[in-house]
Amino acid sequence: MEFIKLNDSDWLSRYYARKSVLQPVWDHLRLNYTDLLRSPLFPVVFNVAFYLFCCLCYMPCNLLGKRWAFVHRYKIQKNTQPTRTNFAKCFWLTAYNHCVLIFPAGAAQWYWRPPIPLPELAPNLGDLMMGVVGCLLLFDFQYFVWHMVHHKFRWLYKTFHAVHHEFMSPFSWSTQYLGCWELFVVGAWTTIDPVLLQCHLLTTWIFMAFHVYTSVEQHCGYDFPWSTRHWLPLGLFGGSLHHDMHHQKPMSNFAPHFSHMDKLFGTFSECVRIPEGEKPVQETHATVHSCDKSEFNLMQVFGKTGEEKKLA
Ligand SMILES: [Zn+2]
Ligand SMILES: [Zn+2]
Repeated sequence: MEFIKLNDSDWLSRYYARKSVLQPVWDHLRLNYTDLLRSPLFPVVFNVAFYLFCCLCYMPCNLLGKRWAFVHRYKIQKNTQPTRTNFAKCFWLTAYNHCVLIFPAGAAQWYWRPPIPLPELAPNLGDLMMGVVGCLLLFDFQYFVWHMVHHKFRWLYKTFHAVHHEFMSPFSWSTQYLGCWELFVVGAWTTIDPVLLQCHLLTTWIFMAFHVYTSVEQHCGYDFPWSTRHWLPLGLFGGSLHHDMHHQKPMSNFAPHFSHMDKLFGTFSECVRIPEGEKPVQETHATVHSCDKSEFNLMQVFGKTGEEKKLA
């Protein structure tokens, strides 16, 4: 095992030469699951399995939350509950996207790419955290630009992104209720960003897992005390309230994770819970911004009034 040559006065060198606290974990994974971890198919399978796991964790709340007062008090839009039709539509599109796009892309990688070499050394804890935060910030910026452009231009919106806004009140399984193009873009950035930032494989997997978890949490429909928005002060991290607001007011809150991009570009919308008996805001592109001069209502275009049924 080679270490960087030390100059005792250099604290940075000492920091990098110190054995990482993650080394035992990394050694265990690297030595016992070598073939699995080196396979180009592993990140795909890992992402899909973890996504399904996160959705299943929040599913009881989406199905039965209204009956449980201790859960229902954290519901963001208290008047809406996903129906069986909503679940069926999400299951169908999720299965379709995985069969048509995700698994073929994974199989192509498995066929074309050589097995990935596993480094001997684990990343330092500080490097791992900086890598994860760096990837989240980079993805946040990329998706903010993509998302805003796909809301500002009617053709792009109708063609690629409108499908995701079919649900004004999101629930866990609606997270990947996406068109193929959006899913491809999101998947490509999630894969490429850690490579661009030269992250360790362990950092890459933790970034992917955190990214998947936060995506599902943003769509769960609840603002629980453990929501990621409580993890950072000053509302720096958006969490479920931030993205739920985007589904109510589609021309605001474009950033997927943090809130600084929306604040910088003036698209930030204060997050509020909709109390029992009150209607959601349900703003449309035409009523909020002048992206189009005509009275363009996305619900009229798609002939839908939202899939959520209001419960009496
Ligand atoms: Zn969404
Ligand atoms: Zn959107």
